[in-house]
Amino acid sequence: MQTGQTHLFIPGPTNVPEAVRQSMNVPMQDMRAPDFGALTLSLFDDLKELFSTKDGTVMMFPGSGTGAWEAAITNTLNPGDKVLMSRYGQFSTLWVQMAERLGLDVEVIDVPWGAGVPVKEIGRRLGQDTHDAIKAVFVTHNETATGVTSDLAAVRRVLDENFHDALLFVDGVSSIGSLDFQMDEWGVDLAVTGSQKGLMLPAGLGFLGVSEKAMEASKTATMRRAFFEFSDMVNMNRDGYFPYTPPTQLLHGLRKSLDRILREEGLENVIARHHRLAEGVRRGVSAWGLDLVAEHHTLYSDTVSAIRVPQDVDACEVLHVAYEDFNTSFGSGLARLAGKVFRIGHLGDMNEGMCLTALSVAEMSLARAGAHIQLGSGVGAAQNWFAFGEEITPPLRVAAE
Ligand SMILES: *Cc1c(COP(=O)(O)O)cnc(C)c1O
Repeated sequence: MQTGQTHLFIPGPTNVPEAVRQSMNVPMQDMRAPDFGALTLSLFDDLKELFSTKDGTVMMFPGSGTGAWEAAITNTLNPGDKVLMSRYGQFSTLWVQMAERLGLDVEVIDVPWGAGVPVKEIGRRLGQDTHDAIKAVFVTHNETATGVTSDLAAVRRVLDENFHDALLFVDGVSSIGSLDFQMDEWGVDLAVTGSQKGLMLPAGLGFLGVSEKAMEASKTATMRRAFFEFSDMVNMNRDGYFPYTPPTQLLHGLRKSLDRILREEGLENVIARHHRLAEGVRRGVSAWGLDLVAEHHTLYSDTVSAIRVPQDVDACEVLHVAYEDFNTSFGSGLARLAGKVFRIGHLGDMNEGMCLTALSVAEMSLARAGAHIQLGSGVGAAQNWFAFGEEITPPLRVAAE
């Protein structure tokens, strides 16, 4: 028998706020009713704000982030098109795999897992591509497998410096709605996310931000697509309807989660909170004497931390103890990081106390799995940060009072 809450500290699906859960508890409704459009049209406006786009078009497809990846590719490219992708974690690896399956000519840049997008190398290859053979550059903004956030503005800069016309595809699945994301400013042509991460909803919707340039490309792109056809979606969306049955409950949930993010908390505050909470987790990890997979502090992700366990410890055992003995889920090490890494997801509906619980359970699980961890060390370091912040050390604070 299990008592109390089960703790979910994985980087998606994330915790669904109670108010969002309640908002989805509504009867089924007619998705062709005259007043149905009022709900969806308001969602599109707010999604544009979430993506930071004025000029772009926002769409939502039943599916997940992976479906939105496929929609982005098949609507804007031609079979055999050359695209430039880089691999630095499991999600960027899967996107490469999809592009290959769909018949694109993929030029891959491999960099160590823990590094970010290889901006210089992308610049070099674009510079050599004098005939604009490369039709698209793909970037995973936040690599959820490694806890690395890449610099999208820098990718846009190298495209511009090389006067290169390639479309910029961005996987923002674990960044949009949690980290700073500027679709228009960074010239992102296809931005992709899903419902179950920063948007704090169940899985079931894939979202796309599509630039004017990408919409134009979709009019002549010849890759096969049916379910994900942009023009069917855009035509119906104009009045707030869909070409097929939308998950209406999820749309109500989305209404509530966007209200929370954009109005009740405010997007800037959401982003600042993610940074504050992530910093607390990182201070905890550092107090344990453990390393993050991210190679450099400029790459640290504010939505997920991938933590290397000591060499003589099995990260699978850490996960097992946490789950079986402490009702807590952490993210596992994916692919080549399996057994070496566990991840703490700190995105979405999170607060200080939840992060402290995550650190506390992680400490106990690490210790049980054989790591030499001073119990309380990580929790204490995070408490210091949450309670007093960077500038004010505890003794000063006491003296000031
Ligand atoms: C979760 C995730 C995905 C996959 O999304 P699904 O919704 O599971 O299809 C893709 N990319 C990144 C960066 C992710 O974090």
